[in-house]
Amino acid sequence: MDSTYILSAFNPVLALVFAVIFLLIWRRQRDATHVLNWAIGYGAASVGFGFEYFHFFFPALELWMGINIFIPVSALFAARGLCLRHSGRSPDGLLVAILALTNVVGWWFVFGAPNVLARGLTVSTGISALMLVATYAIAKNRQRDRIDIAVSIAAVSIAVMLMARLVGSLMMDGPPVADTREADSFWIISLKVVGLYSWMAFAILFVLRIAADLVSELSLQSITDPLSGVLNRRGFFAAAETMIAGATQSLPVSMLILDIDHFKKVNDDYGHQTGDEVIRRVAHVMDTSAPDTAVVGRLGGEEFAIFLPNTRAEAACGFAESLRALLRMQAHPGIPASHPVTVSIGVTEGHGESLDQMFQLADTALYRAKHGGRDQVQLDRGTEAEPDATARLDLIPGLPG
Ligand code: GH3
Ligand code: MG
Ligand code: MG
Repeated sequence: MDSTYILSAFNPVLALVFAVIFLLIWRRQRDATHVLNWAIGYGAASVGFGFEYFHFFFPALELWMGINIFIPVSALFAARGLCLRHSGRSPDGLLVAILALTNVVGWWFVFGAPNVLARGLTVSTGISALMLVATYAIAKNRQRDRIDIAVSIAAVSIAVMLMARLVGSLMMDGPPVADTREADSFWIISLKVVGLYSWMAFAILFVLRIAADLVSELSLQSITDPLSGVLNRRGFFAAAETMIAGATQSLPVSMLILDIDHFKKVNDDYGHQTGDEVIRRVAHVMDTSAPDTAVVGRLGGEEFAIFLPNTRAEAACGFAESLRALLRMQAHPGIPASHPVTVSIGVTEGHGESLDQMFQLADTALYRAKHGGRDQVQLDRGTEAEPDATARLDLIPGLPG
């Protein structure tokens, strides 16, 4: 048996295997619609290559048309999945227009003015255009990584190979004739090789993309507090640790520790669910009112922390004070306005201290705020206030000047 017959069987079978793999992955991650598109794309590729396989044995034109229809459709879904993954939406009008044009012109070169080379050129151009749309979507994504660059290279190389195939075939065998079936024709062999390369390269890279996305999703989950959506203790300390490294005497950092007052009573009087909602709202107010450069985290229970890079104690205290006032005014469902939920905040400034030391100092300041009657901000005693430091207040948006 000629080896191209075996090669022909690879494409439909492997494409089907990957269609099933992507479908199974999508069933577990229903919001990953790009994976569903890849499943459909591989399904279509399997059908298209299946038509091509049987065309060897039953050389009917209808079978040949099968590949001309299904392979561009599979390229469309591969490209659509890439657009969805990289820009969150896909230019469906453009993709369908390319597919429709490819089909209309392709069929014209079958029935209107039969020309195998022109038909091949049309289908190759259509698929190449779809690949370039996908490459453009990846290029526009600022968060692309090495896997995405590899996908772009694969997409562009598919377009180049499809065109090179036409030129190569012309040079090797001259213009292809209608219903070429010769197993040793460059026209046929190059189609199988480009097909195998395309779908294998994409399949491997798509699987890598899905795996890498899953890993980053899990690592994000491992540093996020599920109740409030801000960083958890581990995430807060990791982020603050990287910022504290750059702190110096002239460029200090500040840290706030915030604890909700009499929270046990909130739970006792209004229920645990109301308490959870209070935690969510307090975190939201902290997150939205903190500067963009700040790190906000929930340390546990009803205790939070904010790390402020490039911020002196005075500015940090000003921010803490406006945050305290804002939180006091915050309405909470299920809690009457006559019972405002208040917070106590401890503040410290660091210029070379370790994060643990800063944490201890801020915690001591918080303890003083609690003992001073709650609903207040306290700066740790070791922090000297510098008269000119108030100039940095304007770095914190929304602060009273
Ligand atoms: P203080 O003003 O001294 O801080 O008083 P407090 O009542 O807030 O004191 P404490 O820190 O001892 O109480 C914290 C309470 O927070 C105890 C616990 O039941 C409650 N809590 C901890 N985590 C959660 C949570 O995720 N949800 C809810 N609803 N309650 C929580
Ligand atoms: Mg408390
Ligand atoms: Mg507490």
